Amino acid sequence: MNNQQLVALAQKYGDPLYVYDANKIEEQYNRMANAFSTVNKLKINYAVKANSNINILKVLKKLNSGVDCVSIQEVKLAIEAGFNVKDIFFTPSGISFEEMEQAVNLGVQITLDSLSILEKFGNKYPTIPVCLRINPHVMAGGNHKISVGHIDSKFGISIYQIEGIKDIVKETGLVINGIHMHTGSDIYNIDAFLHATEILLNTVKEFDTIEFVDFGSGFKVPYKEGDIETNIEEMGITLSNRFNEFCKEYGRDLTMIFEPGKFLVSSAGSLLVKVNVVKPTPNIVFIGVDSGLNHLLRPMMYDAYHHITNISNPEGTEKIYDIVGYICENDTFGSNRSISEVSENDILCIHNAGAYSFSMASNYNSRYRPAEVMVYNGEDYLIRKRENFDDLIKNQVIIDLE
Ligand SMILES: *Cc1c(COP(=O)(O)O)cnc(C)c1O
Repeated sequence: MNNQQLVALAQKYGDPLYVYDANKIEEQYNRMANAFSTVNKLKINYAVKANSNINILKVLKKLNSGVDCVSIQEVKLAIEAGFNVKDIFFTPSGISFEEMEQAVNLGVQITLDSLSILEKFGNKYPTIPVCLRINPHVMAGGNHKISVGHIDSKFGISIYQIEGIKDIVKETGLVINGIHMHTGSDIYNIDAFLHATEILLNTVKEFDTIEFVDFGSGFKVPYKEGDIETNIEEMGITLSNRFNEFCKEYGRDLTMIFEPGKFLVSSAGSLLVKVNVVKPTPNIVFIGVDSGLNHLLRPMMYDAYHHITNISNPEGTEKIYDIVGYICENDTFGSNRSISEVSENDILCIHNAGAYSFSMASNYNSRYRPAEVMVYNGEDYLIRKRENFDDLIKNQVIIDLE
């Protein structure tokens, strides 16, 4: 979408506004599918937590994607979007057994990630095959808060506990149908990923009932110019060859699964914000916009860089600004940015806001969450209404203190 189209959408639907380009999601999906096209059985399970709007899920369903869900609510959203339960994979961590039982009743594929739950599950549901999340203990990931495959991570069953798993399987008769790992977001080191892959495949060899191997995700997308990106085409060739060779060795055509969130939807999204104030101070010119960490938390939570452009005045002289939100904290979207000259009421575009953006939004400072619009084959659709005051108070129970 070009700048004029985006400005027109902000005028039509108001601001701040999330806009998603569904055709970009298709492009990313096809890129991934093509990268692994030599694998006989490939399954791409979109990680719902990245962006859980039902219409985004429907776009992915149309592409033949499955989904990866981390809560029973995400499972229900996927069912609402029309996914067949056989295409819904449930990969939670540390949830209650009762939530696990709900997933069993819905009939989705379950991944377990602790020994005690495995034992409990095996005793109660010995005939329901489950997948195991393994912690391969490799360091990967762009930020310590999102690197989840290292030795002290809470995720997965340690590869050092494999004997414990086998004991439980023997005692309960449980069938392990898949092995899973997810080493964390932002993998750009193919060698580290292949190292973890070998550990995963060694674990597969410990069981003779495996049907699929789930490699998780962590495909990095570029947030700023010059950023490293996972070279998915190169990784596709190397990993597919290794996987195909392993299937022969194992004696069965296993399904290769990935669970990308960010890779599929991040670059498809933009957050459009309006400039409320241009505020020069002795050292910094601040640009105050009608949004904040309540709508896009990543810069404040992960120090994430999101590229910001002035789509109302794209051809002006570049100046240096700090772009800040209206939340009463040190609420900053970007510091020391070179942006085409900004005036009050201009619309700025915060790029790469398709993943972990709206899905992490809140009502902090009692602000409304923005509307969401999807553009698909040249048509724009409102896919979530802007909140209003009723949304803020509808669940508050007002007591009479008189
Ligand atoms: C978050 C998550 C993903 C998606 O990670 P991305 O970095 O967005 O691709 C995949 N699998 C599991 C289990 C996750 O928790």
